Amino acid sequence: TKKIGVLGLQGAVREHIQAIEACGAEGIVLKKKEQLKEIDGLILPGGESTTMRRLIDTYDFLDELKDFAASGKPIFGTCAGLILLAKNIVGQDVAHIGAMDITVERNSFGRQRESFEESVRIDGIAEDFPAVFIRAPHIVETGKEVKVLAECRGRIVAVQQGNILGCSFHPELTDDTRLVEYFLNLI
Ligand code: GLN
Repeated sequence: TKKIGVLGLQGAVREHIQAIEACGAEGIVLKKKEQLKEIDGLILPGGESTTMRRLIDTYDFLDELKDFAASGKPIFGTCAGLILLAKNIVGQDVAHIGAMDITVERNSFGRQRESFEESVRIDGIAEDFPAVFIRAPHIVETGKEVKVLAECRGRIVAVQQGNILGCSFHPELTDDTRLVEYFLNLI
């Protein structure tokens, strides 16, 4: 069985573990950087990217996460996890892991509707994916190596760069496992 770690410092961790196990893989809550050695793929969950970054620094995780990304093992960032992966964040001088050649804008779907669900077409994966957005970021710009997988309301909301996958929404909050299955197949 494939072992998938979910960065377990903050955010929607349990839901990802359940989705991984629903797909027949083993889910591991990652709380220590040493656990990165045990896993075949990594999920960076949604939550609050600034809080997550603070905890990443507290537990001295950042360099190991960058090394994991460079190793070529698959990573999937959802919502705040997508922000952690981006090379550029609008209005911020510093990135976090910075492994994906994209620019993201945080909280960019408007304040009046902090969260919503919309059916989204994900290229080659789903015609009608129920995408749940919660104070979601969107992808403003993509580099040459980045493939756009989905758009919603004219904004890019899912991308892939080699073995790195990212989306603005929360696939783990629905019963639809197609995106997680796609991720598992990258391993
Ligand atoms: N707004 C959050 C951030 O900027 C992301 C929201 C989420 O992960 N649901 O980190």
